[in-house]
Amino acid sequence: MVALSYRDRQSEETHRVALEGIFVQIGLVPNTEWLKGGVDLSPRGEIEIDGRGQTSIPGVFAAGDATTVPFKQIIIAAGDGSKAALSAFDYLIRLAPVEVQQAAE
Ligand SMILES: Cc1cc2nc3c(=O)[nH]c(=O)nc-3n(C[C@H](O)[C@H](O)[C@H](O)COP(=O)(O)OP(=O)(O)OC[C@H]3O[C@@H](n4cnc5c(N)ncnc54)[C@H](O)[C@@H]3O)c2cc1C
Repeated sequence: MVALSYRDRQSEETHRVALEGIFVQIGLVPNTEWLKGGVDLSPRGEIEIDGRGQTSIPGVFAAGDATTVPFKQIIIAAGDGSKAALSAFDYLIRLAPVEVQQAAE
């Protein structure tokens, strides 16, 4: 490898950087556009969660890279997924039966 060519998507300009190798890092912007107006999002578009995976909407939990969790790694996403599932169970088990029925609908 002798150089990297890339196109700036805003200016449409093509640039060329001379180098001998690259480390690719992608995926820093979460795909959460569709959640705007629903759960609270951080300025970077991450779903705001507390320590239990609870979002700003009671009964809605989230986990993984799309959330405000500080480190985006597989083991953290998997653990937080488990935590969010347990939190959802904990949330539902405290509801009265009629509320559980409504939450499921
Ligand atoms: C290049 C790269 C290298 C990495 N290397 C490592 C590593 O070495 N070690 C490590 O621990 N972590 C690594 N990571 C990070 C790791 O991949 C993530 O932390 C992990 O995959 C996050 O899991 P997740 O379930 O939160 O999100 P994801 O794995 O991104 O899963 C989200 C899923 O949701 C889907 N989706 C998105 N929008 C929608 C929608 N609107 N409707 C339906 N489905 C949708 C996506 O297609 C995707 O399948 C790497 C990431 C990248 C990008």
